[in-house]
Amino acid sequence: MKPTSNSAQHVDITTSLHPYTDARRHEEKGPLIIDRGEGIYVYDQSGKQYIEGLAGLWSVAVGFSQPRLRDAAAAQMDRLPYYHIFAHKAHEPSIRLAEKLVEMTPENLTRVFYTSSGSEANDTVVKMLWYMNNALGRPEKKKFIARTKGYHGITVASGSLTGLPGNHRDFDLPAIPVRHVTCPHYYRFAEAGESEADFTARLLKEIEDVILEEGADTIAGFIGEPLMAAGGVMPPPAGYWPGVEALCRKYDIKLIADEVINGFGRLGSSFGSVHYGFTPDIMVTSKQLTSSYMPLAAIIFSEEIYDAIADNTHKIGTFGHGYTASGHPVATAVALENLAIIEEQDLMGNAARMGEVMQKALAQYADHPLVGEVRGAGLIAGLELVADKASKRPFDPIGKVGTAAFEFGHDEGLILRNVGDTLALCPPLIITEEQVHEIVARLGRVLDLTAGWVA
Ligand code: PLP
Repeated sequence: MKPTSNSAQHVDITTSLHPYTDARRHEEKGPLIIDRGEGIYVYDQSGKQYIEGLAGLWSVAVGFSQPRLRDAAAAQMDRLPYYHIFAHKAHEPSIRLAEKLVEMTPENLTRVFYTSSGSEANDTVVKMLWYMNNALGRPEKKKFIARTKGYHGITVASGSLTGLPGNHRDFDLPAIPVRHVTCPHYYRFAEAGESEADFTARLLKEIEDVILEEGADTIAGFIGEPLMAAGGVMPPPAGYWPGVEALCRKYDIKLIADEVINGFGRLGSSFGSVHYGFTPDIMVTSKQLTSSYMPLAAIIFSEEIYDAIADNTHKIGTFGHGYTASGHPVATAVALENLAIIEEQDLMGNAARMGEVMQKALAQYADHPLVGEVRGAGLIAGLELVADKASKRPFDPIGKVGTAAFEFGHDEGLILRNVGDTLALCPPLIITEEQVHEIVARLGRVLDLTAGWVA
């Protein structure tokens, strides 16, 4: 459809700067305007249907246009559309959601702080630990350890923790003290002939070496996504997380699980940290918390951290941090209803069951000439496309073939995400077995079209 001067397409390309977009290419190409959604599907303005194979941005757990979330938002809008929780104020939805999050998460996590996004939440975690360590009289303990290819957001501190070059380049990041250690992805980063156990041991030694080199008394926290998602869907090697946890305990470093994508059932377990058997001191959640119907993130953390912070707020008179929308009543009301749906419909169990179906069905593509590795857990998966299967040689430049596949996806009515040349799937947790097979079939056609394009 050619944009006319007052069409939404034309107005978009003449008025907006889009996130994560080549702006000049966008001026040529124009936007695909998504008009409505229902269940696992979205529809563009021409009425074309797409399976939302990435659940929006890895987030719409309960599917699109779930009426209970609309009703929860409307009821809260009627009653109290906005209020803050600064300076001893509170409201029922944010209180009840904190209660629920403490109940759902591991026993040691007893306190909640709200922000509106995962990035703000990770920025807040950095500031909380800096504040805590100043309060505890250890002002040197301020650095972070993160991983290359980790994704923790894009604000100044969270973008520094993120380990992706595209988020640093020309932004003058990292801007806080952070060391990025090797991405725990066996297929890409194991040395020739190295077993998975040896790979894990080498990575753990690297982390310990960094700690010793920097000095444990300078390191505040280790942050990681239990299963790395936005950097390319990379499950950790066996034993990695228990090993990281042991190092954090040994050197008194707070362990932060960034559960923004993993949390609330994505891997078929309640949380990624539960899935991989470790207990964080701080858990960061967002996305599936409200199915992204409302912007909300919640940091759930230990009483020990709370106590150190609380004592200092009493000493200096305040915790000088918080957002206008922290604990927003409509967002927290929607989160409560969303979590109720996840529980009532056993969507975490569904993710485990449908995840098994999806991983099994996707495994057939391991033999496809373009596919180097099929990987994932529960309802999140990645297929890495390579130029040469035997040597794992990537395409040059990385991302061109992935982008072609992403675009063939649109033709086939499947919205997926290409992270470089890795095709990511992360469908809504409500998905049925029939729909899983439909995604896998459409993906097969996308792979064949892409192979034809490459040839
Ligand atoms: N942490 C993780 C693991 C994420 O995947 C994301 C977003 O994809 C973020 C943090 C940042 O969240 P937001 O985009 O809401 O700022």
